[in-house]
Order: sequence, then C-alpha cells, then structure tokens
Amino acid sequence: MKAYLDNAATTKPSDAAVKAAVDAMTVCFGNPSSLHNVGVEAEKLITAARKSIAATIACAPESVTFTSGATESNNMAILGGARTYGKRRRKIVTTTIEHPSVAEPINHLEEQGYEVVRIAPDRDGNISAEDIVAAVDANTFMVSCMLVNNETGYILPVKRAFMAIKRNFPECITHSDCTQGFLKVPFKATDLCADMISISAHKVHGVKGVGALILSKGTRLLPITFGGGQEKGLRSGTESVPLISAFGAVAEEFRTTLPQAVANAEEMNSYIRKKLSKLEGISVNSGEEGFSPFILNISVDGIRSEIMLHFLESRGVYVSSGSACSVGKKSTVLKEFGLDDKRIDSAIRISISRYTTWKDTDMLINGIIDGQQSISR
Ligand code: PMP
Repeated sequence: MKAYLDNAATTKPSDAAVKAAVDAMTVCFGNPSSLHNVGVEAEKLITAARKSIAATIACAPESVTFTSGATESNNMAILGGARTYGKRRRKIVTTTIEHPSVAEPINHLEEQGYEVVRIAPDRDGNISAEDIVAAVDANTFMVSCMLVNNETGYILPVKRAFMAIKRNFPECITHSDCTQGFLKVPFKATDLCADMISISAHKVHGVKGVGALILSKGTRLLPITFGGGQEKGLRSGTESVPLISAFGAVAEEFRTTLPQAVANAEEMNSYIRKKLSKLEGISVNSGEEGFSPFILNISVDGIRSEIMLHFLESRGVYVSSGSACSVGKKSTVLKEFGLDDKRIDSAIRISISRYTTWKDTDMLINGIIDGQQSISR
C-alpha cells in the first residue's frame, strides 16, 4: 500500500494522458510541420490540445503556446518580456515568494541593470494587492505574481493587483505563474487580467516536459530561442506531440469535474487538518481561507523534515520537505511567510490530487502519529 501525497511536486499521469501520448507515438507519429498527411494528423492533435486547454481557462486557442513546462514558460515570459517591453522602461515588480523559475530569471535581469522591487508577505502572511500596485510606476514594464504558492498553497491577490495596475498603467505587462492553480483553483484567463500565464501539465496528471504560456490578445513577445519558427516563431523546436496531446487529454478529462475535485480536496484537506491539529506539537502552516485545498504545509515540533519524510516513506507515505524544486535548500519562502527556523526545519508539505483516497489520508495521519512516538528528538 502506498499513499502518494506529493502531488505539488508531480502527479501520476491519468490513463487518458498515457493513452493520448502512446497514440501520438505509435499512430500519429509525424512531424506536425510536414506537409503530407502523416504530419497533418500530428498537427491535428496539437490543434485539439490547444482547444481543450484554452477551453479550460476560457481563452482563445491561438493564445496558447506550448513549451517544455512552466519553467520554460516563466523564462520566456520574463526574459522575452524584457526583450520586448523592457527597453525604455527598466523596472520589474514581483514578490518574494515566487518559484525559482520566476525568481531566477528576474535575478538575472537585475544583474543586467534592471530595477527589481519584491513585495514580501505582511505580518499576517498576506501579500497585499495594494503593496504590489503601489510599487508600479511609469518606469515599470512588467509585474510577475504567482497565483498559488507551491509551498503553502497560499492564493495571491493576482486579479485585484493586476486589475488596478492595468487601470493605472495599461502598458505594464502582467505575468502570473499559475502552475499550482491550473485545474486546481478555478480561474479564467481574462478575469486574472494577466497578459501572460504559465501552466504545466505534470501537476495535473499530464506528463512531465510540457507546459504552456498563454498570451492575452495584443501581447507580442520576442522569442528567447531561435530555430524553425514553430509556435508562431515564439518557441522553435519540433513540438512534442505525445506530451502536448496528453496535456490536452487531461484538460478535456478534468475540466468539467473541476468543482467536484475542489470540493473533494477541501474535504480531505480539512479532515487531515482537523486530525493533525488535535495532536501535540503540530503546527499548521497553511491557513484555511484563501489557500489551495490541494496543499497543506505543517511542522512537526522537534523532528527535522527529512527525518519525518523518510520515516513516512518507510510506511509507504510520500510527502515533501518544502518544495521538490529546491533540493536540500532551506525554504526561503517559509521564512518570508514569517515562520521561525525551528518550524521551517520541521516543515512537511502534504499535497493531494484527484487520485488521493481517504485511505491515503489515514495512512498519513497514522504515519505522523507513529513518527512522533518513534523518532527520538
Ligand atoms: N512554478 C511553480 C509554482 C511550480 O510549483 C513549479 C513546479 N515545481 C514550476 C513553476 C516549474 O514547473 P515545471 O516543472 O513544469 O518546469
């Protein structure tokens, strides 16, 4: 028996995703740029996937550019955004709790001489939309603010901030890394007021190695890679038809059941939270309101994250010690949220998915109880 509860790191591909990928490798294996019908069949799979993904967040299919994942989408948005819009205006506004695939390209631009303002959570752990808006001025060409934080599940006030920014400075480009929000926290592309939205397939039962950047109407981005001119010149390189087709399949499969998935996640999240809160020495680091129900961050007093993680692993329970993307590093994000070192050192990220069962939640709770009793501190 295994209880996989590390779904913010990655998820198990759905049967429909695997089938779509296999079909694209065995039946429609052509190069979508080829003019003959083997190529045309492959191109049709991409067109269908583009439509399904667009329908999921209510945007136009032509606004979807396929990439190798959210890391590439974020780099394209930020570095491409600077190439396109950052010639005269030289300032970027972002937050201190972004994923490294946003934070690092912005650090790179800062080294090149751009001015960067990073908004931190306030004392209650909230990022204030007003703080973001106030930091934007006529010299700001881009604002980048994630929708859901990957370590705590905190939902940022993207819509409120971006709406106000667009009202005051319409030329300022808005970008949101929606990787932990897509098919988890319902949103529509236009409602967010984001010119650029990054998403990834493998967080929602697609396959690793594919994502998309969604551009609003009128947003023109210069590419950061050059080659055969695929994806309207924005992302050269032969499209990974199998992965793209699998991405389309999960969008198709899960779009209509999103409200149900959210309701299930809420129920499980609140069950785990209640059970764990009753135990001595457990602090819950994710709030109840304004957080994604798919992520729950906790700290187990006096037990280092890695020790608890491996203890749970020995019981067939899989969680994460913070974010899987920053292996071995202490979480700077949890520090930004105001957690003290002890709580950060003992933080565990539990992340659920559409495939999480009640048995998984009980295995987790029992595993933590046993861990507290068996691990010497
Ligand atoms: N942004 C966020 C918020 C994430 O959680 C992740 C994945 N950990 C990424 C970006 C990177 O996504 P990908 O693995 O598709 O490059």
